[in-house]
Amino acid sequence: MLHYEYLETIKKYGRENKIPILLDDSLEYISNILREVKPRRILEVGTAIGYSALCFSQYLAENGRIDTIEIESLRVEQALENIEKVGATDRIRVLEGDALDILPYLTEEYDVVFIDAAKGKYNEFFEHALRLGKKGGYIIADNVLYKGMVMSDYNKHKQRTAVNKLRSFIDMVLENKNLESQLVDIGDGLMICKIVTK
Ligand code: SAM
Repeated sequence: MLHYEYLETIKKYGRENKIPILLDDSLEYISNILREVKPRRILEVGTAIGYSALCFSQYLAENGRIDTIEIESLRVEQALENIEKVGATDRIRVLEGDALDILPYLTEEYDVVFIDAAKGKYNEFFEHALRLGKKGGYIIADNVLYKGMVMSDYNKHKQRTAVNKLRSFIDMVLENKNLESQLVDIGDGLMICKIVTK
């Protein structure tokens, strides 16, 4: 028995505790893609408290599974509790550690790869996503416009490195001829890439 009614409580907890979980607009946009794809396998980089993985798990095909990677052990604990509460333990596998250490060991193909972790590492995460993503599948990256800073002249010294890295990430993705990519200005900016050739 699945208890998706807990999602509202998990979202409320995330918002109240300033945990950067997926925004409603972005979730709606991604959900429309997932509804169409009906994925068997989803890979997520950046679990936090499991909110997006739990939302996405509603659109999995029968016997589908999500692998999601999280570096902070407290968040892993909270994610596991939430997944248990919803009753989705057989649908979501949480992998604890730095995604850059874990990704090289993954060999399965994924219908959808969702990148939602350290902004300065998107280029590296994306290299793995290209390797692991199925032809015809999607790679989706969140926060690529980083509160509007990526497309404006203004960025504080503190964020300059991440902003510059996101700019080079966007250029790299849009130049990749194996992908049909779209930069969508909703939420904190979504990069949606369809893998057309491999
Ligand atoms: N996807 C989640 C959601 O919408 O519910 C939100 C993820 S939050 C934006 C980013 C998460 O990525 C944080 O919990 C952070 O600890 C984790 N993270 C950051 N760098 C990471 C890395 N190198 N490997 C794995 N997780 C990382």
